[in-house]
Amino acid sequence: MSVFPESLLKSLDLCIKCGACNHVCPIFISQEKKEFLGPRAYLQIPRLIEEELEMSVDFIEYAYECTMCGLCDNVCPVGIQISKLILAVREALIDQGYVPPRQVASMPTKLSEEGLAFGSRELKAKWLPPDYQPGKGDTFFFSTCLSSEIPESTTAAFHLLRRFMEIETIGREELCCGAFLRLAGYKYLSEGALEECGNQLSSHTIRKLVVLSRPCLDYIKKLSDLNVIHVIEAIGEAVESGKLRFANSKKELSLGMIGYCDSYDLNYMAEDILSQIGGIKIIDMPSWASCGVGSLLSFKAGAKGIRGHFLKIFQLAKEMRLNSLVFLDSSLYLIGREISKGKTKVRIYDVPQFLLRFL
Ligand code: SF4
Ligand code: SF4
Repeated sequence: MSVFPESLLKSLDLCIKCGACNHVCPIFISQEKKEFLGPRAYLQIPRLIEEELEMSVDFIEYAYECTMCGLCDNVCPVGIQISKLILAVREALIDQGYVPPRQVASMPTKLSEEGLAFGSRELKAKWLPPDYQPGKGDTFFFSTCLSSEIPESTTAAFHLLRRFMEIETIGREELCCGAFLRLAGYKYLSEGALEECGNQLSSHTIRKLVVLSRPCLDYIKKLSDLNVIHVIEAIGEAVESGKLRFANSKKELSLGMIGYCDSYDLNYMAEDILSQIGGIKIIDMPSWASCGVGSLLSFKAGAKGIRGHFLKIFQLAKEMRLNSLVFLDSSLYLIGREISKGKTKVRIYDVPQFLLRFL
């Protein structure tokens, strides 16, 4: 019996080897355009798995290089969905007992022991403001597994939200939604995590859920009975209705904003919000600098491509003489914060942290 659906294997035969996918792939570009690190090379993997060839460690690591940005899918003239194929490859490798990169391999244990994909349960509520007391509101903040690793980002988002809405949170006991497990290829574990998370959320009266990071937002949306929005959307609504205003910057600042390749609405909304601050100049960044929704998972897996991509962004920021790089949300900010250490003088923020300076 074949590992991959017949339709997927047949779609691979459509490839005309034009290379359009390679030319837009940020990982291929940041890795000096090595053919074996491009999306076109990924097309060979399902056949190798079907033929039961032994996979090397390098090969398994390579499966985690893709950031799921989807740029290759958009340009393929014959409609091959390469990012979906890569996710199917990760699932197949895990099903066949191959061990993914270390931090990805530790996710199932972390989930069973702490109910998180990564981070620490003990540190999970470190971001909660000391004056927070649970109330009776029906809008909840979903802080995600990231919150123990980036308390500064989580606190900033929660603080901003509290300026214009009554907002509750499950806080320390909040369960993983399974989004990063899904991106890692742990299909069944991720589905189980989402169900558990949904059960926990439904034990509260929730009218609206405001989510800190885009990968989690996308996945929680599968719980169809919930009204789920990104933290940027909540802030955008408050700015539009005049509930949230910002002071001007005391000195002129030029910043570049880095968002996701496939979330134009969120990216524009964030730029619109930032443009409310007088004295700020938002410099257009090239489209190659955008990221994929799986960027953090690739970073956690130790992928070289995402590191190279961020170093290229920092180099560009230096050439453009930017004061700050503002990442759309916490999952991109975490990568930026870690890779920037000792590598750039440009200041790194996510949108809520940047806004907080001008309240
Ligand atoms: S989804 Fe993005 S990172 Fe992945 S192979 Fe395609 S272009 Fe490259
Ligand atoms: S863009 Fe599509 S057809 Fe062209 S090489 Fe890539 S997968 Fe093949």
